[in-house]
Amino acid sequence: MTFRHSGMTGPLIEDILKFVNMIAGKPVIPETEYYIKKLFKPKGTMQIHFYCEACGFYLGSLADFSEATSDCDHCGKSSNVRELSGNFFVTMSVKQELEYILAQPDLTFVSRDGRPDGVYSDVVDGDMYKELCQPGGLLSDENSLTLTFNTDGARIFQNSESSLWPVQAIVNELDPGIRFKRSNVLVCGLWFGKGSPNMTAFLKPFKEEMNLLGSSGVCRSTSNGDVVNCPVFALLCSADSIAIPKMVRRKQFNGRFGCGYCLHPNLPVLALSTINNLRYVAVGDDGSFLSYPYRTHEGMLADMLKAHEHDVSGLLGGRVAGEDLPDHFNGVKGLSILADLEGFNLVYGFPIDYLHQMCEGVPETFLSIVCAGPSKSRQYWKNEEYRVAVADERMCSATPPTMMCVEPKPVSNRSKWKGKDYRMFVLYLFVPIFADLLATRYFENFKKFASASYILISDKITREKLVTAANLMQEFVHEFNVLYGSSAITYNTHLCTHLAVIVKCWGPLPNYSTFVFESGNGYLKKLVNGTNGVVTQIARKHLTIQSVSSVISEHENVSDRVLNYCSEIMSYQYVKKTSKFDDGRAFGFERVSKLNDVERAALAEVGVVLPSEQVSFFNRATKDGVVYYCKAYTRPECFDNTCVTLADNTFAVIEKFVRIPGSTELHMFIKPIRIADEEPIAPHVFSCAFDLFAPLKVTSMSKIKRLCARVTVKASNYERNFITILPNVHERD
Ligand SMILES: [Zn+2]
Ligand SMILES: [Zn+2]
Repeated sequence: MTFRHSGMTGPLIEDILKFVNMIAGKPVIPETEYYIKKLFKPKGTMQIHFYCEACGFYLGSLADFSEATSDCDHCGKSSNVRELSGNFFVTMSVKQELEYILAQPDLTFVSRDGRPDGVYSDVVDGDMYKELCQPGGLLSDENSLTLTFNTDGARIFQNSESSLWPVQAIVNELDPGIRFKRSNVLVCGLWFGKGSPNMTAFLKPFKEEMNLLGSSGVCRSTSNGDVVNCPVFALLCSADSIAIPKMVRRKQFNGRFGCGYCLHPNLPVLALSTINNLRYVAVGDDGSFLSYPYRTHEGMLADMLKAHEHDVSGLLGGRVAGEDLPDHFNGVKGLSILADLEGFNLVYGFPIDYLHQMCEGVPETFLSIVCAGPSKSRQYWKNEEYRVAVADERMCSATPPTMMCVEPKPVSNRSKWKGKDYRMFVLYLFVPIFADLLATRYFENFKKFASASYILISDKITREKLVTAANLMQEFVHEFNVLYGSSAITYNTHLCTHLAVIVKCWGPLPNYSTFVFESGNGYLKKLVNGTNGVVTQIARKHLTIQSVSSVISEHENVSDRVLNYCSEIMSYQYVKKTSKFDDGRAFGFERVSKLNDVERAALAEVGVVLPSEQVSFFNRATKDGVVYYCKAYTRPECFDNTCVTLADNTFAVIEKFVRIPGSTELHMFIKPIRIADEEPIAPHVFSCAFDLFAPLKVTSMSKIKRLCARVTVKASNYERNFITILPNVHERD
């Protein structure tokens, strides 16, 4: 195996394979070296590109050069174009990556037709996407596909300043249930080194191939066997506020005119004595909310051309020292490599990444102010009693669903928090935990942010709700400025005022967040097992994994044992098989036991009388990719996947999953949860009661509408339960 062991000979490999089959007692894996080689031989290829060692200018791909060095057309210096030693990067063809994904059997796609009017659920519901679908528009061909791409740096080795910058992409028209799966993420480019790549060189092959794919397209087979040609366009680039300005060639977010969406000048705040003393001040002299005109694609392009003509970055050697030229035009410093990417909007093509903005930036700023310590932030707390310790205790006792992927951590330990921790805090924990701790106006202010965030990441946003979220976000920023001063209005806080506009263009935020790409970075990092030739190692292994996966999917009857074997040698997860029902799948141990009286009564209530008292119970089940637990299943302790909302809009706790003989549906014993009559504490947080003596009921898995998160808050004299319906189910990490 080339994966974990090097230097193994063919015969040795064959012997090991035979040995594995012998232990298994049947042929579970192919035994001949020929077949193994076929299996592990990548179908795809990679290309190596060189750039100028002195100025970063793109020189060409390896095949273009006959000599070992090449002179740069831009600065004239000579660079190595043979040895893979620093000034190169690798690309995988977008077409090849897409064909691999599209060749999978049973792929499902988002339908453009029959979508409810005025509801934003996905990228295809966005006003900009719809506009492009009009007759004569870029996406007027109903088979066209669009990509959301990303590039960002990730550290691979500890104690090394070098980082890996992959170009990854997802297909927006794939069904959201499969769109974010690791195997459906394209890897189109890899750069490794200190600092960051020169985007103009790094994205050049990607842009050029995309512009070809817009007309030539890729082929895919439809469910009825027809082969259709799909034009492909890279419409969205989701990245953080550090990477985007590098791609656009504009000033960083903390510079003058650093906002990518509006012409806010980013004003000096005198109270701040640091170098980055600019803030997106939101309150005008008369106390009103300050807003500036939005940028447009045409305006951005005009600024780019002006900056290019005036050579403001001095890249063309035309800028004369001492000459009185502006160093930017509305923050723009040059012509972006993406300026002629077909169909790409230079403003809205970069949607706000809610991982860095909503899940990290804003709550981070908020918590750093209100939890700065008793002497600094007492005034923000009820009765000026600084109670971070209480908040910590409550945070630690919360039991979110496993989909959150993180255990709740104390607020005072937030230097260790990641995007997922902040996301959980904003959506599920802040409102119930801080309601009786913070002084009313500070609590109410951040509650606006939490409520609006909940709306903007929901998978069904009506036009009315979008307007509500836009208003809440504007009020939040305006008040935040009044409450905490202009120094609190960082770029991330300012971006809150643009979130609703982005959702209007492209649908709910999770569809184009960087969460999927960050976990993709994790996958790519795992493919490295030595410090030499990092990008070529990754590219080869990535292509090999694709090849193995496609061979496995061609052989439908591959056993679990083989899947496990492949998962293990390639550190790659395959889904295990489970007990299938019409409405979901049960997994884990199937336990046969007797029904008790209460259970029998509950079944009789719905007219089910069983011939035998023995039935099968399960602890866990999945439906539409979401995992549910029954109450008896207590591992892992800090998570709770038992609370659900049902088709009739009631809430319940799942007590047990049960197989009812003769039924093709998976059934559940449930206990109803009572929602308090009082006004909800926030639009998305209900106060509820868990009644131990509530009658047991039976329903089927098909009646589950959505998983819920519950939070129990223990105060000195009361204990209260709160419940929040998960705003979406496709977000995964
Ligand atoms: Zn050069
Ligand atoms: Zn702005």
